[in-house]
Amino acid sequence: MPRNTKAIIHLDAIKANYQLANQYAPQSKSIAVIKADAYGHGCIEVAQALETQVPAFAVAIFEEAVQLREAGITKPILILQGVNQPGELEYASNHDLWTMVENKIQANLITQTPLKAKLKAWLKLDTGMHRLGLDDSNLSDTFEQLKQCLHVDVMTLCSHLASASDVTSSMTSEQMQRFEIMTSGFSKQSALSLSIANSAALSGFPETRLDWNRPGIMLYGLSPFEHPHPSDNQLQPAMTFTSEVIGLRQLQKGETVGYGGTWQAERPSTIATITAGYADGYPRHAANGTPLSIAGQQATLAGRVSMDMITADVTDCSGIKIGDPVELWGKNINANKVAQAAETIGYDLLTGVSQRVPRDYCCN
Ligand SMILES: *Cc1c(COP(=O)(O)O)cnc(C)c1O
Repeated sequence: MPRNTKAIIHLDAIKANYQLANQYAPQSKSIAVIKADAYGHGCIEVAQALETQVPAFAVAIFEEAVQLREAGITKPILILQGVNQPGELEYASNHDLWTMVENKIQANLITQTPLKAKLKAWLKLDTGMHRLGLDDSNLSDTFEQLKQCLHVDVMTLCSHLASASDVTSSMTSEQMQRFEIMTSGFSKQSALSLSIANSAALSGFPETRLDWNRPGIMLYGLSPFEHPHPSDNQLQPAMTFTSEVIGLRQLQKGETVGYGGTWQAERPSTIATITAGYADGYPRHAANGTPLSIAGQQATLAGRVSMDMITADVTDCSGIKIGDPVELWGKNINANKVAQAAETIGYDLLTGVSQRVPRDYCCN
């Protein structure tokens, strides 16, 4: 019998979350961001589920776009980091991949590589994130250079926000102002479209809803915000990470559990052992007390996360037995809560569910 640890992917939830993204901005187009294997949900299955609804997909790197094309996905795919090889450019122009141009080297490569089909380019502007993007020193001449090039179609000016997950931060409005100033000279020319919003901006900052939005995390049903936000409860978590109880024991007061004995029984306790660990993507830094759900009852992590197992205090649960199902995160246990207890973010947990964990698709 296979080990009963798996990630159940609710494709219906992903479709509903995408519809919600669209409802925030019915005037603009929302690109479904499916980089990093659709945040761990499986990019091919997610792309297939969304393909009839979306205008385009976005991935981080070239290889991810090729994987989707080879699986028969035909919608345009934006490559957020752009491409860096002549062969990749040729493939991109022939396969309707839109490429980001964020520096002069990428622009030179594009103009110097002869292409038969037109390449659609997005220009990335650095408005304050200071990670990728053109700035005042090179934006105008890069734009002119690409505009002069017959095999390039400059399509969109875009930028990325650094602090949209914090609705109290002034950074978002500062970046919006920078973006307006930087784009004002070009946006009237050549019917250029504009794009800036990720999930947090789309749901929390109406002024960021431009021609194209780029929602990612919200499609998978996790809140993009650092603090509770009114939009959170409209999201449907798309991944249920489940496992199974494989051991049970009684401890006396004072006995400890797991490596290093970091959890100690303060009363006679019942400990359940569950067959999922950090090699499956359960966060090794999850602290004692991290919530999980066993046979529908709330329990808490007790002791260090092992490679292939975790242990939970089920003293306050009733009737727990070997074989009982465990939800590590999903509809009952919010992945952002688990992430918080492990001093990380939900994005990290979703993308970290390992290859050892089978994905089961449901509810398409
Ligand atoms: C990942 C990414 C997004 C999506 O961000 P979410 O916070 O997941 O919505 C949008 N734009 C860019 C450039 C990205 O890298």
